[in-house]
Amino acid sequence: MEDFYTIQGEGFNSGKAAYFLRLAGCDVGCVWCDVKDSWSVENHPMVEIVEMIKRIKESSADKVVVTGGEPAMYDLKPLTDALKKNNLLCYIETSGAYPLTGNWDWICVSPKKFKAPLPDLLKKANELKVIVYNKSDFNWGEKNAQLVNENCLLYLQPEFSVLDEILPKIIEYVKTNTKWRISLQTHKVMGVR
Ligand code: SF4
Repeated sequence: MEDFYTIQGEGFNSGKAAYFLRLAGCDVGCVWCDVKDSWSVENHPMVEIVEMIKRIKESSADKVVVTGGEPAMYDLKPLTDALKKNNLLCYIETSGAYPLTGNWDWICVSPKKFKAPLPDLLKKANELKVIVYNKSDFNWGEKNAQLVNENCLLYLQPEFSVLDEILPKIIEYVKTNTKWRISLQTHKVMGVR
């Protein structure tokens, strides 16, 4: 759908420069999705992997974030093979709703109620990033936190359209439930994508 070199704004890798590859196609259907343009595959041109690598190599990037849409809908092995061959770190952002292919240095699973993540994939996550839209998402987060591995980092991130209302609740929740950390969309503060 689009690709750009920017600063990762969210989660554990927040603040690091990274090249983003946003793959089109998603059937998860989050009501609050802020990239609904990504849902359709047809509306976006196909881009060859060699072309993606060429664009990345024109930047100074040493890490690539593959996101969507839901990138795990595709066989990602050819892509990660090509990225690795070019000494690029491979990070993925996925809802976890599809089996994951490819070779990843960092797996961020952001579980969605609309299409629940696969337990096998939750076990592989380096980072669980739960988007909090309303109070019921705290229970959703706890349910998923029971299924991750013991080293997985746990983040609660306010859904941006309800930030003012939900952030105070997240702050109180994290003060009581200290295994969680807060993730904010700092790229929006920085004015970058
Ligand atoms: Fe949007 Fe991501 Fe949800 Fe798909 S999984 S609907 S791209 S927020």
